[in-house]
Amino acid sequence: MSDALKTYAEINARIAAAAQSWSRKPEHVNLVAVSKTFDASHIDPFLAAGHRVFGENRVQEAAGKWPQLRESYADIELHLIGPLQTNKAEEAIGLFDVIETLDREKLAVKLASLAEKGHKLPRLFIQVNTGAEPQKSGILPEQALDFISQCRETYQLPIIGLMCIPPVEEHPAPHFALLAKLAEQAGLSELSMGMSEDFEAAIAQGASYVRLGRALFGAR
Ligand SMILES: *Cc1c(COP(=O)(O)O)cnc(C)c1O
Repeated sequence: MSDALKTYAEINARIAAAAQSWSRKPEHVNLVAVSKTFDASHIDPFLAAGHRVFGENRVQEAAGKWPQLRESYADIELHLIGPLQTNKAEEAIGLFDVIETLDREKLAVKLASLAEKGHKLPRLFIQVNTGAEPQKSGILPEQALDFISQCRETYQLPIIGLMCIPPVEEHPAPHFALLAKLAEQAGLSELSMGMSEDFEAAIAQGASYVRLGRALFGAR
């Protein structure tokens, strides 16, 4: 077995074990393989192993890699996990199947206007800045419920869940719990939370998507 395949099997086993220890079904935890900074030669072994769900944080980088990979694998599901500028929204909706980083009204307005022009929108997560960090994107927790209903009702956007990136220097569990509580209050079922260092804690709190880069691809 190649190193990539071995790592992939180990991570899948850890996800399954974490899910089972919280009486959750392993198939309800989706692995988003975060391939940012890695080229096709690093991604290919995962595609060959049958993995299809990937995450990229930059529109330009995704545009340079994924259209070609999609020619070989039609059923790829690509997630945008980095901030999205309004002027890149049209390009992004053509590249991504899921956008995890809807975080402000201006972007909601832009996406709604693209839908009105006949574009099919990706499924959307709303990013919540659970730590209220000034440098981080995401809607503030106290504004999240209003923003969610605005996105769904006023703008008719296909919101499926919430996403967060906890502050690096804090215990992530309270942030995951807050995200889960907000999703429950809003009646949203999907939770994108947990990265290489903390995905098991996120699964404990109900993560349905975990986003793993270094644990799969190695150091960036
Ligand atoms: C890079 C990135 C990840 C993956 O981080 P790792 O620590 O490499 O697992 C997850 N989510 C977001 C938003 C990222 O930018």
